[in-house]
Amino acid sequence: MLTIFFSHGLANANLFVKRGVVLTKEQWLAIKNNDKAYDGKFYYALKRSKKVCRPSCRKTSLRPERVIIFDTLQEALDRGYQPCSRCRPDKEVWEGARIELANAAERLVRENYRQKFSLPALAGELYVDKSYLLRTFKEIKGYTLLEFHNIVRTEKAKEMLQRPELPIAFIASEAGYVSASHFTQVFRKVTGQTPSQYRAAYLRSLDE
Ligand SMILES: [Zn+2]
Repeated sequence: MLTIFFSHGLANANLFVKRGVVLTKEQWLAIKNNDKAYDGKFYYALKRSKKVCRPSCRKTSLRPERVIIFDTLQEALDRGYQPCSRCRPDKEVWEGARIELANAAERLVRENYRQKFSLPALAGELYVDKSYLLRTFKEIKGYTLLEFHNIVRTEKAKEMLQRPELPIAFIASEAGYVSASHFTQVFRKVTGQTPSQYRAAYLRSLDE
């Protein structure tokens, strides 16, 4: 069901049509709320300004009838609009896409933590350049992909170490390590303790 949305000048539609360009209610709300989730999905300009913006750009006194929508930045540029200097729609990649990429990489690492870390495999899976993936992940998450891989393995190992019946060598293998010594080395790097020290401290804490 369509709801009446625009009060001035538009009687009974939630679409504002101007020169063949349609502003939907969804787009209007995205612009009004500076919603980052819509960045990259469309662009807008104000009729009288010569600037094109991302939906998240902060602008005051917006009116729907003054907004022109573009599906792509290129369309706006072709029509003579300049990239807004505040929201920089021409910047190589918008923030939303970088966050999405970092989250997707995080998911993949979590799902495949038992496998040997492979940057080419991750980049291939995500259809991005290796160094771009590395840089983006580090900037968004604060650690490198390999560090994160080690963190995930360490988390899994900690859960197992809390069960005293499980041998360390078994845990190392379950966490994806080919040798117990490599496991110990990485675990220590991440936690500051060896697996045995962690287990002992954990078991002691239960007695207290
Ligand atoms: Zn802008």
